[in-house]
Amino acid sequence: MASFLIPETLSQIVDNHIKWFVEWHRAAFVDPLLRSDILRAAPVSDEFGLGQESSSASLPIDQPEVDRLATLHAQLHKLARLVLIKASDETPISSADYLAVSSKYSEFMRGVLRLERAFAVAASGLDSLTGLRSRVGMYEDLIGERERFLRTGKDFCVAIMDIDYFKRVNDNYGHDAGDRVLASVADHVSSSLRGFDDVFRMGGEEFLICLKEADISVGSRVLERLCKSLSAFNIKLSDDQQVCVTASFGLTSVTADADIEEILRRADQALYRAKNAGRNQVVVWKAEDR
Ligand code: GH3
Ligand code: MG
Ligand code: MG
Repeated sequence: MASFLIPETLSQIVDNHIKWFVEWHRAAFVDPLLRSDILRAAPVSDEFGLGQESSSASLPIDQPEVDRLATLHAQLHKLARLVLIKASDETPISSADYLAVSSKYSEFMRGVLRLERAFAVAASGLDSLTGLRSRVGMYEDLIGERERFLRTGKDFCVAIMDIDYFKRVNDNYGHDAGDRVLASVADHVSSSLRGFDDVFRMGGEEFLICLKEADISVGSRVLERLCKSLSAFNIKLSDDQQVCVTASFGLTSVTADADIEEILRRADQALYRAKNAGRNQVVVWKAEDR
């Protein structure tokens, strides 16, 4: 099961560790009674507030980062305890002992704060690189749009767009340039569509486009135009370097017989065909694609 962190927990972790660090100083350098109380208590476990339970307020968080913090947390408490043991044996605490604990403490706290910021950005539903809406809330929006379609009969289309050979951009120009290309492509896509159409960054170099009040022929026309204009769009990387990219599109119209998961599956199947047919093109889903 994926691990989830609940935002409040991160603030609590920060608060608890600020209090703990003050107390640890007192125990190590000032208060022998407190020191023996702490040493008598069970060692702090490796857990630091990680919940396994999903809640509406929680989001999946990058697991390696959570694991790294759990390791830092365990190391911090182990080092801090060793210092207390030394102090209670009347062994002098060296500056190296002290630095080991304090630098572990700041590394751990910086990590938790970074995670908290990443959490806030993810929960806002905005992708920080492109400024587009992220996956968060995308399904709910599409479901709402489909309900409107069922109520009013106003057609809409959904497309998945995937930049072609994007890995080569990273390989040839570096990851930072790749990021700039993603941001420029996102900008080009959203400025090419009507204000009330929606664009989401689904992840990586993949975008979801929702064309409102558009049947499949309008949708095809709009995306053909976008596909062409993107391929002619020069993305400036530096004063003497620019790059062009193309993208493939899998397009489908929303129908009453398909829920949003099925619609996304169809768009993905059409995208797969667009890639296999040579990329830089729009493919409309057909029942045979299944
Ligand atoms: P295809 O035409 O088949 O789609 O080829 P591709 O190279 O675009 O596809 P592939 O899935 O092999 O590679 C996608 C690349 O996108 C790999 C990954 O490193 C890169 N990528 C994903 N997200 C980001 C990002 O946020 N920034 C940068 N710079 N690169 C990213
Ligand atoms: Mg790609
Ligand atoms: Mg891809």
